[in-house]
Amino acid sequence: MPRASIVVVGAGVTGLTAATLLQQEYPNVAITIVAAETPMPSTSLNDTPSADYASMWAGAHYRPIHPLTTPQLQFEHKLGMHAAGIMRRIARENPEAGVAEMPAMEYFQKPAPELLRMTTGDVYAWPGDGFRVLEKHELPRDAAWGCEYQSYCINVPVYCRWLMDRFLAKGGRVIRRRLSSVGEAFVVAGEDQLVVNCSGRNIGTDPKVKIIRGQTVLVKQQYHRTITWQRADGTWAFLIPRPNGGGTIVGGTKELDDWESAPRDETRERLLRRCVESFPDFVKTVEEFVVLKDNVGRRPWREGGYRFEIEQIAPGKTIVHGYGAGGRGYELSWGAAGKILELAKEVLGGKAKL
Ligand SMILES: Cc1cc2nc3c(=O)[nH]c(=O)nc-3n(C[C@H](O)[C@H](O)[C@H](O)COP(=O)(O)OP(=O)(O)OC[C@H]3O[C@@H](n4cnc5c(N)ncnc54)[C@H](O)[C@@H]3O)c2cc1C
Repeated sequence: MPRASIVVVGAGVTGLTAATLLQQEYPNVAITIVAAETPMPSTSLNDTPSADYASMWAGAHYRPIHPLTTPQLQFEHKLGMHAAGIMRRIARENPEAGVAEMPAMEYFQKPAPELLRMTTGDVYAWPGDGFRVLEKHELPRDAAWGCEYQSYCINVPVYCRWLMDRFLAKGGRVIRRRLSSVGEAFVVAGEDQLVVNCSGRNIGTDPKVKIIRGQTVLVKQQYHRTITWQRADGTWAFLIPRPNGGGTIVGGTKELDDWESAPRDETRERLLRRCVESFPDFVKTVEEFVVLKDNVGRRPWREGGYRFEIEQIAPGKTIVHGYGAGGRGYELSWGAAGKILELAKEVLGGKAKL
C-alpha cells in the first residue's frame, strides 16, 4: 500500500465522485480535495456559487445519447450505463442523497436515423428500463418521434453535499483554495503525492476546452417525470424534477462561448413560455409559475470529450487528468471516476514513483 497522499483538485461532481472511489480503494491513504468552490453547507437557495462551478447549476437528469455513431459517444454510453447502475442503487439505499428513479419521456421533431430504428423493448437507459416507442397519437402535433423509459434525476446541491459529507466522515479532508495552476497542488501537501485534476476546465490551460452557457429556471411546482422536447432548429425544452421536494428545473439554453454570468430576463420569459406551450400538463400559464431561482452555469465542454490521461510534469510529480465533462458530468460521473481510478492505480501500483 503506498504511503503517499492523494490530492484531488475540484469538488464538482467529478472530483467528489473520484475522491469517493479513491477513498474506497485506498482507505489508508490521506486524500485531500482542494477546490476554489465546494458544496454549500446548506442547500439554501440564497447560496450563490459562481457560474464556473457547473455542478451547482445542472438539472440534472440522465438522458442517454443515441445514436452511437462516434467512438466518443460509444465510450460515453458505457460510462453512462455504468453510472446508471450506481445511481439507481443510491436512489434505493440512500434516499437522503437526492437521487430518485423516475419516468422519462422524449419528443423529437427531427430524430436521427438510428433513433428511428429503435423499437419497444430495446435497451436505452439500462437493461429493463421499460423503453417504449410512443405511438403517433401520443406525440405532440409537430413531433416526429418519441419514447418513454425509466431514468433518474438528481437534486444537485443535495447530492454533492451528500458526497462530500460521506467523504469527510470517512476521514477525507477538504481545503477551500484557488490554485493558479494544477501543478500548485503539489505545494499543498508536498511532492510525494498523486494529484488528480478534476478542475472542470483545467484551470484555463487547455485549448480544447470551451464553455457552454446554460440558463434554466427553478420553479416550486413539482413535475412527476423528466421530459425533453428537441426541435429541428436545435432548441429544446426540458423539465427536470429535483427529488426530495426540490421543485422543477425548467430549461434550458446551450450557448457556446457566452460568458454572461447574470440571468437574462428575456431568456427566463422564453423558457417559461416554451414550457407552457410544450408541456401543457404541467403549468397552464406563465403567471402561475412560482419562480425560486434563475440559474446560470458554464458547462466545461471539451472537444473530443473528457481528458483522461496521466502526465508527469517533473520527476516525482504525476497528475491524473479527469476533466472536460461538458453537459453530462452527472450522468457519466461514476463511469468517469472509474476511469480516473484506473489511471491512479496505474500510477500507484506501477513503477512510477510518486
Ligand atoms: C444548465 C446546466 C444543466 C445541466 N444539466 C445536466 C444534466 O441534466 N445531466 C448531467 O449529467 N449534467 C448536466 N450538466 C453538466 C454538469 O453540470 C457538468 O458536466 C458537471 O457539473 C461538471 O462537473 P465537474 O466536477 O467536472 O466540474 P465543476 O462542477 O465545474 O467543478 C470544478 C471544480 O474545480 C474547482 N476549480 C476550478 N478551478 C480551480 C482553481 N483554479 N483552483 C482550485 N479549484 C478550482 C471548482 O471550484 C470546482 O470545485 C448541466 C450543466 C448546466 C450548466
